Amino acid sequence: MAVDWLEGTRPQYDVIVIGSGLGGLTAANMLAKDGYSVLLLEHHHKLGGLATWFHRKGGHIFDISLHGFPVGMIKTCRKYWNREIADSIVQLKEIRFDNPQFSLTTTFDREDFTRVMQDRFKVNRGSIDAFFNAAREMNFYDDQQMTTRQLFEEFFPGRDDVVRLLMEPITYANGSTLDDPAISYGIVFSNFMSKGVYTFQGGTDKIISMMQAELLKNGVDIRTHSLAERITVEGSQVTGVVANGKAIRARAVISNANVRSTVRNLVGEEHFDSGFAEEARKVRINNSSCQVYIGIKKGESIDFVGDLYFTSVADRFDSEKLRSRNITSRTYSFYYPTTRPGSDMYAIVASTNANYEDWASLSPEEYRASKQELIQSTVDALEKYVPGVRDKIDYLEAATPRTFERYTLHPNGTSFGTKFEGLKISMGLPGQIHGLFHTGSVGIIMSGWLGAANYGVIVANNADKYLRS
Ligand SMILES: Cc1cc2nc3c(=O)[nH]c(=O)nc-3n(C[C@H](O)[C@H](O)[C@H](O)COP(=O)(O)OP(=O)(O)OC[C@H]3O[C@@H](n4cnc5c(N)ncnc54)[C@H](O)[C@@H]3O)c2cc1C
Repeated sequence: MAVDWLEGTRPQYDVIVIGSGLGGLTAANMLAKDGYSVLLLEHHHKLGGLATWFHRKGGHIFDISLHGFPVGMIKTCRKYWNREIADSIVQLKEIRFDNPQFSLTTTFDREDFTRVMQDRFKVNRGSIDAFFNAAREMNFYDDQQMTTRQLFEEFFPGRDDVVRLLMEPITYANGSTLDDPAISYGIVFSNFMSKGVYTFQGGTDKIISMMQAELLKNGVDIRTHSLAERITVEGSQVTGVVANGKAIRARAVISNANVRSTVRNLVGEEHFDSGFAEEARKVRINNSSCQVYIGIKKGESIDFVGDLYFTSVADRFDSEKLRSRNITSRTYSFYYPTTRPGSDMYAIVASTNANYEDWASLSPEEYRASKQELIQSTVDALEKYVPGVRDKIDYLEAATPRTFERYTLHPNGTSFGTKFEGLKISMGLPGQIHGLFHTGSVGIIMSGWLGAANYGVIVANNADKYLRS
């Protein structure tokens, strides 16, 4: 007989959270801590959303999105999760670049970037300081007309080498391009520049299991294998969720699913003002990713070559080339045994930005062949940085935009939610339907581990205000 994953749920909760990405998890935890009854629904068999990992034979564990986040994650975890989680966050010391324009190593913070830009790129100190200050002062209420391209042109006219240094890592971090609003660049870049790049020591499996324990301690009713099919609405009031065919009532619903799917598929456009539904339809989905997971044989090791390696063979930065199936740019994350203290395993994950359309239409044979080609060309490219690596590998696997779509249900397998306009729709939901909220990667700014978790906090506060009123 099929398992009833929703057996024993209550008929009604204060809040139902759909999706267990870092946004959904953080919102669920805060509201449960505030004393609300919370049901967390996740369609996958484990929590975390894109903050995920998988085990493979040979003792391998691969992390999908644990490449680096800003220092702000320590404060967010301490305040909204617990001290133990915050205390496991450590800095990555060596971020490296290698491309036809430059090869360098940096700690990826303001001080070191200033050094690199002054000594290596011969940019005058005045322009560097003015740029950093302008980026840091950007906030959501600023002029949203200026693009990142215009921002760079103002401070570093004609310097495509400087633009590459400043932009390529952020394109990897949130999928933004030179044509997106400069604030989506400025906020994320400044977050990193404050103190560099951080990671969670122990791996994604550990942080998510610690979060799960905290959620259970605070009384969240967690249900995996539970697909939310519909958010129910009466008039302009949210009333609950139908999941795995079962209707459960709630005073408020927070969707951590993609914002466009929330409006169109979960609620239904007919429940929104036509203007709002139309605007939601126009929200652009951000790009997706490909990854190659490279497992080093037990007993083998690789020398330390840095933590994060941004590599490219393209002449200059070009966000379209960066997403192309004809890969010119790869970012390698190196996982040494220190990633999971007590382990003696090494792994490497190579990531590239990708277009969903390039992968969506392939036949099963073409798809298999393209994945094989992705794997082989990645190992070839990696040989430059880890000579002889091929002989040390005993596990290889690839993920494409189709993989991300399958596991997260995000349209087009988007890695970073939506473009900037998605934020307005996400924030506008409660104005359309009382008690309906959205959290998670949206508008570029609210993406990444830190952005998604912080947006979870904002939305939990809004839901709390609503529930109290
Ligand atoms: C390859 C890659 C590398 C990345 N690297 C980094 C990095 O180094 N640093 C960083 O900070 N960020 C990184 N990110 C981005 C970061 O992982 C995400 O921005 C963040 O984890 C997203 O959190 P979220 O709250 O938006 O939810 P998501 O992680 O998108 O999760 C949404 C959840 O909702 C569930 N769901 C959806 N619909 C339903 C439904 N109908 N019913 C039930 N459940 C549903 C999904 O299964 C999923 O679990 C990376 C992303 C990718 C893809």
